[in-house]
Amino acid sequence: MGVMAACGGSVEKRVPGIDPANFDLSVAPSEDFYEYATGGWQKAHPLKPEFARFGSFDVLRENNEIRIRDLFAALEGTTSAPGSVGQKIGDLYRLGLDSVRLNTERLEPLRQDLGTIAPSLGRADLSRLLAGMHRAVGSPFFTPFVDADMTDSSTGMLYLYQAGIGMGNRDYYLDAENEAIRTAYRAYIEKVFTMAGYGDPKAAVEAVMEIETRIAEASLSTVELRDPYASYNKVSVETLKADYPAIDWDVWFEVMKVPALTHVNASHPKVLSVANDVLSGDRTKLDYYLAFTMLDAAAGSLDDDMQMASFEFYGRTMSGQQEPRPRWKRALGVPNSTLGEAVGEMYVAKYFPPASKERMLRLVGDLQTALGQHIENLEWMSDETKAKALEKLATFTVKIGYPDKWKDYSTLTIDPALSYWHNIKRANAWHSDDTMSEAGRPVDRTKWHMTPQTVNAYYNPLSNEICFPAAILQPPFFNPDADDAVNYGAIGVVIGHEMTHGFDDMGRQFDKQGNLADWWTEADAAAFNKLADVLVAQYDAIEVQPGLMANGRFSLGENIADQGGLRVAHTALRNSLGGVEPAPIDGFTVDQRFYLAYATLWAQNIRDEEVARLTKVDEHSLGKWRVDGALKNIEAFYRAFDITGGAMYLPPEQRVVIW
Ligand SMILES: [Zn+2]
Repeated sequence: MGVMAACGGSVEKRVPGIDPANFDLSVAPSEDFYEYATGGWQKAHPLKPEFARFGSFDVLRENNEIRIRDLFAALEGTTSAPGSVGQKIGDLYRLGLDSVRLNTERLEPLRQDLGTIAPSLGRADLSRLLAGMHRAVGSPFFTPFVDADMTDSSTGMLYLYQAGIGMGNRDYYLDAENEAIRTAYRAYIEKVFTMAGYGDPKAAVEAVMEIETRIAEASLSTVELRDPYASYNKVSVETLKADYPAIDWDVWFEVMKVPALTHVNASHPKVLSVANDVLSGDRTKLDYYLAFTMLDAAAGSLDDDMQMASFEFYGRTMSGQQEPRPRWKRALGVPNSTLGEAVGEMYVAKYFPPASKERMLRLVGDLQTALGQHIENLEWMSDETKAKALEKLATFTVKIGYPDKWKDYSTLTIDPALSYWHNIKRANAWHSDDTMSEAGRPVDRTKWHMTPQTVNAYYNPLSNEICFPAAILQPPFFNPDADDAVNYGAIGVVIGHEMTHGFDDMGRQFDKQGNLADWWTEADAAAFNKLADVLVAQYDAIEVQPGLMANGRFSLGENIADQGGLRVAHTALRNSLGGVEPAPIDGFTVDQRFYLAYATLWAQNIRDEEVARLTKVDEHSLGKWRVDGALKNIEAFYRAFDITGGAMYLPPEQRVVIW
């Protein structure tokens, strides 16, 4: 649901709201607005070998990583008390940086784990092994997590969700066009088994591919996953035990430290059935599959050979990266996520001015008012449904900057005497226990689902909340030095985008409390779907690279949110002007600056492999189409640039306005 946001600069220096150097004035705005607004930026930022994609928001992410590295470096100067978060962050970071030690230990840290796999294990011991993996290592067959029950959003529920395929998306296993990627994946599997000293790596490849392909066949597609009902299968624990008897669920619950439950969400029964079959089937094949899950999960935390094997497949083959990210960036990411809120607390103290929070609260209020006006003025929706929509809008919980209460990591131990991989497993287990303890309990609605130092934002339909972490409240999203047109066009659209998610194809199915409940009249739902279908067809017709079309159904929610965000933020800007037209800046009117600021967020260069991968796995449209695809439907954009024809132009009867 996040916006996967945009561009750079830092709060220490003044950043221009709009930089004309980013433009390509050789392209007419009516032909390709994205190129016009960002072509100069693209030329000035050729892709470095470590990147599959680099956009204006990656400039901000890069600056952010340097800030976090500075925070970690500051820990070095002080003596952190054993058991303090400073000690944990510092030791975990150093373990990741210590290539000499990693290359000396080689695969040794994983031996103990691989040794737990044995053909002699009975049902209970196999279930213990599986749960131990789910708790600390990876996601064989399915991934367990706790989130709000979709039909009773005040209560935490255990989800058993489809997973267990290394390539992460069923299409890579099943579609003919992905044969080359499958070949590279097989080579990767063979390589890691060879490095681990297995006698018959070719047999391992066959076993892993057979099992993962079975899981892929049983898995829902990305489009099917957009239907929340397709992943909601509430069953009693008794039914779970009866339906999937190959797993000793009592043992599994015990190892996973799940509190006593009456029901779980067995989200994807077909995948669980495959798990059941495989777990009670050929043991040699199963053992290869479990071993590969371990090798694959640990590869990034072991020696250079394993790290490079993983990079060659996931980085180079799948994304087109030419080099791995530098070691310090890879190492930094581990404490930055496992001790995320402790890092966030340091980050906010140093980098988040309280004034930003106040200004954001005002902006969110402005956007809420504007979206309310749009809902009231909709021609396709009845008054009855409008009243419900306005109620949902008024009930939004707004989170800005950082959580009111920080996560307590005092029971997580990081011990530098143990290996990097061992400590990562500990941290994984700690997080698993932390989330499992929420199953069957009242949901804590103050909890954050992103850390403050994340350059992104989200809407969560299960709690009807929007969240804007501290790190996104910087240029080019939020620029205290820029004029209002720029801030409404950037962070304003992001706010409107997240709000619109509450009313997109998925979000609209949840009520103001976050429960799956239909609050729409039948006619209004039909009208919504008719408009949505037009948008789907528009994006289905976009050729993202020769022979590859965008997936309009998969990206529908994000495209609705981009359009809604653009429309609502523009209304909010107009409201704020109070009828007074500001003088142009650098020759651009207030409306032109609004759309230029929006386009700047999506300035980026991207490799062909990454275009293909993201089209498959990322529900957001590619940067170019978040600009050109979205603006085609917006009358105010045409007026701002006086566009009456050209490749950007859609005649009024072909446009679609949802929110
Ligand atoms: Zn989004």
